[in-house]
Amino acid sequence: MEKQREPVGMPLRRIVIVGGGTAGWMSAAPLSQLLGGQAHAASCEIVLIESPEIGTVGVGEATLPTIRFYNRTLELDSAEFIRKTQATFKLGIEFKDWGHLGNRFFHGFGEFGPAILNRSSVMHWLRVHGQAGGMGYEDLSTATVMALRNRFVPPDGDVASAANAYSYAFHFDAGLYANFLRDYAMERGVKREEGTIVDVSVRPGDGFVTAVTLADGRRIEGDLFIDCSGFRALLIEGVCKAGYDDWTHWLPCDSAQAVPCARVQPLTPYTTSTARSAGWQWRIPLQHRTGNGHVYCSGYISDEAAGQALMHNLDGAPLGEPRQLRFKTGMRKEAWDRNVVSIGLSSGFLEPLESTSIQLIMDGVGRLIELFPDRRCDAHLAAEYNRRMARQYTSIRDFIVLHYKLTKRDDSEFWRYCAAMPIPDTLNHQIELFRRSGRVAILDPDSFAEPSWVSLFLGLGVWPERGDPLLRQVDEQVLRTHFQRLRTAIAKTVDDMPDHGAFIDKHVRAAPLEMAKP
Ligand SMILES: Cc1cc2nc3c(=O)[nH]c(=O)nc-3n(C[C@H](O)[C@H](O)[C@H](O)COP(=O)(O)OP(=O)(O)OC[C@H]3O[C@@H](n4cnc5c(N)ncnc54)[C@H](O)[C@@H]3O)c2cc1C
Repeated sequence: MEKQREPVGMPLRRIVIVGGGTAGWMSAAPLSQLLGGQAHAASCEIVLIESPEIGTVGVGEATLPTIRFYNRTLELDSAEFIRKTQATFKLGIEFKDWGHLGNRFFHGFGEFGPAILNRSSVMHWLRVHGQAGGMGYEDLSTATVMALRNRFVPPDGDVASAANAYSYAFHFDAGLYANFLRDYAMERGVKREEGTIVDVSVRPGDGFVTAVTLADGRRIEGDLFIDCSGFRALLIEGVCKAGYDDWTHWLPCDSAQAVPCARVQPLTPYTTSTARSAGWQWRIPLQHRTGNGHVYCSGYISDEAAGQALMHNLDGAPLGEPRQLRFKTGMRKEAWDRNVVSIGLSSGFLEPLESTSIQLIMDGVGRLIELFPDRRCDAHLAAEYNRRMARQYTSIRDFIVLHYKLTKRDDSEFWRYCAAMPIPDTLNHQIELFRRSGRVAILDPDSFAEPSWVSLFLGLGVWPERGDPLLRQVDEQVLRTHFQRLRTAIAKTVDDMPDHGAFIDKHVRAAPLEMAKP
């Protein structure tokens, strides 16, 4: 009988992950799950290299709801994950002083009530109340109502009700999360090597990376290299010269200072982002401390003044001195080049205003698994990966630029620059589409959905001039009654929920942790 041809001719023998930050271990964990349990596991090793001398970026505490799907895919125990990472729940982000000084709005996770005639409830609400209704539409978002009252329970997946239409993510200590995933991955066969890479070997002809050499002379060969080396981009830029699209003219912030402070009551189930004279400040509550940081543009404020602004605006006693970080906003032109795939900060950086970096890591490794190569690393797989990553990066970029562009602040040179700066055509289209018709263009289904864009537009004061003519089919009085009932139902559901801190104390309180020096 003729022997059947093997469908994959040249399976990978070794994957080398360069870097043991959040990106490195978030890449290692699902790959170990995928390859560790299979019969041919012995033929595809996963090796992760991290340098104790170089260390990790050490910030990154807020996430988006899809982190729950990532954790679920790994079959992590949710209570253990929360305890081990000092996590709290996140229902969205409160924005202060962005549109103008005194402006406040909330970007909550989930819908503004159920859709009517396939159109979001908030669009019907706008038709009935218009701008005169002020921020009343926020009462239709269960996540927002919960957050502003510091309430939390997970949504009941079995009960499909209007008041149940919310989602949530986590705030956690990213270093502890990386440790948690390291244990997971190593239990499934990932080998960890400590050392600093000082040399990289490439194959003559096609330029594929074949091995890396550590400072002590050890040489580690591989077929596929995942570059998680952070801002250094050791392989993707250092060797492949993949290039970088610099977006600092749209997102001029290039620096941050971060400092933890003592936890204060109440434990808020949301991130706070407060605009400052040349950037913005985050506040992220964890179980054992509150994370704070000031993201700013060094062209408009000195490091010293930025540090002072940060320290003056803490709501608890500081637990150290501010830590300085620098970055350049943009995206690697080719996130996957030959047999090198960059994931995490090596693939690009968008400031943490909407907590998207960990999301981009999850999506990066998810797409790599979807497009998993053999030893040839076919260029079409790389091209498809790059197409999808670029679409997501640019869509998130537009969403973040929107926060700055729609400001009416003119109290500093920085904000005057943001209000006047040219923006990408795709974002210009998005703003005009919403302004003229209340519609939202979803350019990437893996990024922010309609309710997120609507929260930003309305929160920053852009109201549609005209609505969807089809909405007129619903009687206005019927809608008024519907919204009244919906608001009452949401308020009542939230009344019955426990306080966020009390929920954590009862179900997922972490053991006290000795504070590491920042
Ligand atoms: C100010 C700021 C705030 C942020 N806030 C958030 C947030 O709220 N939410 C969010 O989702 N994301 C946030 N991020 C992003 C988040 O911190 C990163 O996406 C995440 O930590 C991933 O980093 P990384 O693993 O790519 O790189 P790193 O943490 O820098 O890790 C790099 C790894 O590579 C190794 N390495 C480097 N060079 C070598 C070498 N020569 N040899 C061997 N090993 C080497 C290092 O040892 C290290 O292990 C923030 C980022 C910044 C800058």
